[in-house]
Amino acid sequence: MAVEDDPAIADLLDMYLRREDHRVYLAADGERGLELIAAHRPDVVILDVGLPGIDGLEVCRRIRASDAAVSVVFLTARDDEIDRVLGLEMGADDYVTKPFSPRELVARVRAQLRRAAATAAATTVAPAVIEVGSVEVDLGRHEARRDGEPVGLTTQEFELLAFLGANRGLALSRRQILDGAWGDGWIGDERTVDVHVGQLRRKLGDDLPLVTVWGVGYRLD
Ligand code: CA
Repeated sequence: MAVEDDPAIADLLDMYLRREDHRVYLAADGERGLELIAAHRPDVVILDVGLPGIDGLEVCRRIRASDAAVSVVFLTARDDEIDRVLGLEMGADDYVTKPFSPRELVARVRAQLRRAAATAAATTVAPAVIEVGSVEVDLGRHEARRDGEPVGLTTQEFELLAFLGANRGLALSRRQILDGAWGDGWIGDERTVDVHVGQLRRKLGDDLPLVTVWGVGYRLD
């Protein structure tokens, strides 16, 4: 599903996504977008930041308040929008900067769907809880707990934490982390890892024994 007020871009998204056999819903503003999301429960929402009425950031906030299972891929037009998407804990799973390549965007959507499917498969086969300090990573419930209390993580933050937890004691490069937590073939900036690590540290604080390994990446002890 896409929420985009520029009809030319909306048509382009529609065409490329349908070509991949996705069922597509389009909305030109935030209110309509929220209605369609509630009605159709899409797997992925492509969300323009600059929308008339409620902007994309507010739409995302409301999606997260209602149903955290949907993946949100932001479309951003300017650097200051990227900073807002990444800086606030908006619950974005990914973002693409305009002008964008439709092919790349479709690949990102595919990656989100693949990850959701992989998570569902993994959790039905082998539910497990990884303990890291006072943090529990519950793969079955797809939930992180700090001192027994659930901590609100985005899908991507959870995947990152689960991947680090499964590879405790190993220094992992940003590339390894992207491949492991975001999925092979994920196209994007390694800075994404730093942003999500920053969010995990903010949310879990000193309870998370996550070390920056200079010149390499990160290690969870
Ligand atoms: Ca716009």
